[in-house]
Amino acid sequence: MTAPDAARKYDLGFARWVRDNVDGGDKLSMCMQCGVCSGSCPIGTQMDYGPRKLFMMIRAGMKEEVMTSNTMWSCTSCYRCVVRCPRGVPVTYILQDLAAKSVELGYANPNDNTRFSKSFWWSAKTWGRTDERLVTARYYFSFGLKEGMRRSLDNLKIAYCMIKAGRMHLGMPHKVKDKKGLQAILKKAAEIEQRESGS
Ligand code: SF4
Ligand code: SF4
Repeated sequence: MTAPDAARKYDLGFARWVRDNVDGGDKLSMCMQCGVCSGSCPIGTQMDYGPRKLFMMIRAGMKEEVMTSNTMWSCTSCYRCVVRCPRGVPVTYILQDLAAKSVELGYANPNDNTRFSKSFWWSAKTWGRTDERLVTARYYFSFGLKEGMRRSLDNLKIAYCMIKAGRMHLGMPHKVKDKKGLQAILKKAAEIEQRESGS
């Protein structure tokens, strides 16, 4: 039997905090640890912990491990877990909001987030859509050619799983038809933002 890790910190109020602050967190108490979500997840093997284990860790108060895990960042929002969960736990929403909370609370690397936001914004602005391949490639290569290659190769398996699950396609990026309309909306939004930040 493995000895308990004496250095590990437990936050006994963490499950309550998740219940009150995270979207869908109030449904976590419905989880019966059946593992259907983790077993259905196409990205499960790439996650530090599958959703079932992550939810168990929340109950155990393992705040640090949960908030710094790659689980919520690996989720591709395919909703397989949500559709299959026998207890109606909104797994995807919980993971999405845990990711947002990890940024708000300073667990996620702000430098990484800025780079990712820039890539996301570039895709939205250029195509009127966010294409996973372009956003990811731009984000990875923002760290330089060598690091971009390394990250791309490390995550090939995730890309394969996403294609298999129908979350990524291999054709040309989808784009909005009315590009002029898109530019007009963005221009207006920038004007409003400037006006409000100046007031
Ligand atoms: S499928 Fe639902 S009930 Fe089962 S472990 Fe996942 S979240 Fe819990
Ligand atoms: S929504 Fe996320 S956690 Fe759920 S099965 Fe899909 S990738 Fe896995």
